[in-house]
Amino acid sequence: MKVIAVLNQKGGSGKTTIATHLARAFQFDGSSVVLIDSDPQGSARDWSAARDEQPLSVIGIDRPTIERDLKSLAKTDYAVIDGAPQAADLAVSAIKAANFVLIPVQPSPYDIWAAADLVELVKQRIEVTDGKLQAAFVVSRAIHGTKLGQEVGDALNGYGLPVLNTRIAQRVIYPGTAATGGTAFDSEPDGDAARDFILLKNEIEQLLK
Ligand code: ADP
Ligand code: MG
Repeated sequence: MKVIAVLNQKGGSGKTTIATHLARAFQFDGSSVVLIDSDPQGSARDWSAARDEQPLSVIGIDRPTIERDLKSLAKTDYAVIDGAPQAADLAVSAIKAANFVLIPVQPSPYDIWAAADLVELVKQRIEVTDGKLQAAFVVSRAIHGTKLGQEVGDALNGYGLPVLNTRIAQRVIYPGTAATGGTAFDSEPDGDAARDFILLKNEIEQLLK
């Protein structure tokens, strides 16, 4: 099993949107996948429950036992962890369980600075695992057609973690589909949002090889 943890203590950075869509992208590709809701607020579980026939398995693990609890799901190809809004014990547990930590950041220096504690935890773990743990930023909620400002690029590069080529744009389809337990893959499988997430999945898959 490959475990991808979508983490950032900042609420509204797009963790749940990215976790649900990334999990669906793996599923559309024919992989088996489980979405782990580690947020005690249970947004991903609420999302799942809003739909009668939810194609994605969503399991709540909102105590710092993620690594050991995932062992019973070892035969599943991918687990995507939807992170909690804090950088303490739950984040540590998700980082320990992960092969890849994906950190969504909105393209603003304030949001990037707010990731400092998380980046520190992730870097410690990369050292402990001799580089087996991978981590990267993904720019989230980017205004379509605008370039990232120099300050944003500099602030991100200052952390010394890679920034993925794929960006997730700000699009109305995300809140629109969330309310009914869906994703862009359900309403517009050939649309721009679904395409972004196929690119994101491909990029992460490539790095995990
Ligand atoms: P988090 O899980 O980090 O708190 P969410 O994914 O729940 O973030 O996003 C917070 C709010 O912003 C939700 O209402 C969501 O629909 C909206 N949102 C997230 N990402 C996007 C995006 N790329 N485009 C438009 N709205 C978004
Ligand atoms: Mg969330």
